[in-house]
Order: sequence, then C-alpha cells, then structure tokens
Amino acid sequence: MDKGLDSDRDRTYIEPIKWCRYIVTTAYVTVALIILAHVIWYFAAQTILAHSSDVYLWDYIILPAIGLFSLTFLADLFVRSPRFSLVSKEYISLTLFIIFSFYLSLTHNIARVLLASFILPIFASTVFLNVKITRWTFWISSLAVLLVGVKIYFSGKLDSNIIMQIFVVCFMFLCSYLLAKVLILYGRDNLKTLMHFDDKQQNMQEQLKLDPFTGLNNKKTFDDHLLRLMEECRNTQKFISLAIIDIDHFKSVNDLYGHGMGDRVILYLSEMLKKIQNENTQAFRIGGDEFSILFKGCRTEETYRTCEYLRTQMSSFPLRTADDKLVTLSCGIVCVDPENADLEMLKNAADSALYAAKANGRDQVVIYNDLVPSAERA
Ligand code: GH3
Ligand code: MG
Repeated sequence: MDKGLDSDRDRTYIEPIKWCRYIVTTAYVTVALIILAHVIWYFAAQTILAHSSDVYLWDYIILPAIGLFSLTFLADLFVRSPRFSLVSKEYISLTLFIIFSFYLSLTHNIARVLLASFILPIFASTVFLNVKITRWTFWISSLAVLLVGVKIYFSGKLDSNIIMQIFVVCFMFLCSYLLAKVLILYGRDNLKTLMHFDDKQQNMQEQLKLDPFTGLNNKKTFDDHLLRLMEECRNTQKFISLAIIDIDHFKSVNDLYGHGMGDRVILYLSEMLKKIQNENTQAFRIGGDEFSILFKGCRTEETYRTCEYLRTQMSSFPLRTADDKLVTLSCGIVCVDPENADLEMLKNAADSALYAAKANGRDQVVIYNDLVPSAERA
C-alpha cells in the first residue's frame, strides 16, 4: 500500500509523462489566472489597494507574471527533456504548484485563505498513483505553511488568529492526504482490473491463433504468417520453403480403429511438428489431417531432410492399418526466392507436389522443383 507503482508495466499503463505535461500545461493556465485576478483587482479596487498603483502594477502583476511564467517554462523544459528520470519529472511538476501557493501565501498577508491552496498539489499528485509522492507533497506543503508562519512572525503580525489558521490548515492537509491516499488505492484497484482484462484479452487473442485440439498454429495464423514471411524474405533476400503434409488413408484409420485412435495419430504427428519448430521453422495445422511447415531462409535440401525425418518417424506410430501397412504421411515441398514468386503460386506448387506424392503411391516426400522443368519455373 505504501509502495510506488508495482512495475514498469503499471507505469506504462498510467503514462506518468503524459500527466506531468498536463500538470505543467495547467500551471501555465494557473499563472494566467493569477495574473488576471490581480489585473481585475487592480482596476476594480483602485481606491482600496494596499499599495500605490505603480507598486501594485510592478509587484503584483508585471514581476510575478515574468517570474511565474519563467518558472513554469523551466519546469516545462525539464519535463520535456529526455535526460531526466520520470520520477524527478513527477516531483518537479508538483513542486511548481507548491511554489505558486507559497508565493501567493507569502505576498498576500491579508488573504490567509490562500494557505488552503496547498491542498491542490496534494490532490494533483494522485494522478501518479504513488503514495510516496503524495506523502512528499503533503510534507513539503506543511513545511511551506510553517515557513509562511515564520515570515509572518518576523513581520510582527503573528497573532492567535493566524496561529489558529495555520493549525487548521495543517489539519486540512492531513485530511487531504488521507483522502488522496483513498483515491490512489481506488485508482490502483481500477488499474489492476484493467490489466487483468487486458491480460485476458491478450490470452484470448493468443488462443485464437492456435488450433484448440493440437495446440499448433491454425490455418488463419498460417495465412498471416506466410504473408508476413514473404514480405520479410523479399526485404532480406532469403528463400522460403513450404511443406504440406497429409496423413495417408486417414479415413480408414478412423473407420477401423475409431476416432479416438485417429486423434492419437494426429497428436503424435503434432508433437513431432512442435519439436522441429524454431525461430525459422513454424508448423501449422491447416485442416483435419493436413499440416504445413514454413521454413525461413531454408534451401530445398534442408527442407527435404526435415520432412523425410518426419515421414520416417511417422512410421514409428504403433499401429498398422487393415492391409497391414504402417500409418504413413505424404508431403509436398517447394522452395522459392520470394522475389520471383507470389503467395498463391507457392501454395499451389506445394499442393501439386503433395498431389504427386499421393499419386505416386503415398508415404513419400516430393519436391515441386523436381516436377517442373526449370524454364517453366522461372
Ligand atoms: P488420403 O491418403 O488421400 O489423404 O486419404 P485420407 O483418408 O487421409 O483422406 P483425407 O485426407 O481427405 O481424410 C481426412 C479425414 O480426416 C476425414 C476426417 O474424418 C478425418 N479427420 C479430420 N479431422 C480429424 C480429427 O481431428 N480427428 C480424427 N480422428 N479424424 C479427423
Ligand atoms: Mg489424408
């Protein structure tokens, strides 16, 4: 409860830098309003001004306008500079308002109500959702009020009435600090709920990319990935290989041994596909018993070796079909330079190779490039 924000992630959510800038922008407006109030008072109460017109004009309008605007401008530069830490920017933006209150309380001996203006930075600090910063604002504000009291004491105007006002104001600060803490807890609670829903949404989005049965990437992810990969490999001048795998006579596995056994075959192949995945190799389930693999920067021989490995491993599945054959798979592969190929061409080529593998008796890996004369490929 007493700590700052829990992690960098929390801070990213509330965007403290944005609020620092808002506070500084509000400071510009506040300075303008302070000056405007003095100008109005200058014209409306000429006869009862405590000072001569010239002194009032300089001491309460021109000099404060220059001083307060310059101060705000410096804080603005500080907040915009990439050299300073975020936390220091949070402190500086709040200090600006403490200085305004201090200035008003010091220069307007008659208006003690201005002491209450120190409450503003205490509440403003809640935007950072950090009790430490709010507590600091509370202590600095209290200290500033005591300094105003010291100044009044040395001017010889300290009486019991003023002492009581300072005393009451300090208690108002304490109440404001406690209330600000409640607001911070409320804000953090909302932040947690928001992050929880965000996590859930991200989780759901991740789930949507997967095939729920095997946990492999699904058809939609395959299409998206292929599109991105073509673009990337065009820019990096890398080759792409695509392999399409289909289990042979899978219907008969289902028919003879039931869907449960069929499922086990699919899971067996899926686990093998997961094992060969790495940053350049991604596997997908694109249909019932149909799978694909995308290889980035991989030439034909390497792709062929991987698919051959999968084909031989498939035969290790402990089941024989009715005609006493092992469960096998067929695979069609194609390797292209994406500069000379488009997406549909790539898919059609891998399909043609798979079709050839099936037509040639199944249980084999066929390379599209071997099927087509080189002139036709170009
Ligand atoms: P071919 O060698 O020509 O590929 O013959 P095949 O019998 O494998 O034909 P095909 O690939 O068209 O058959 C796919 C079958 O896979 C049809 C469907 O009943 C079955 N299937 C699809 N998804 C699942 C699944 O999740 N579990 C099981 N058990 N069977 C599935
Ligand atoms: Mg099949």
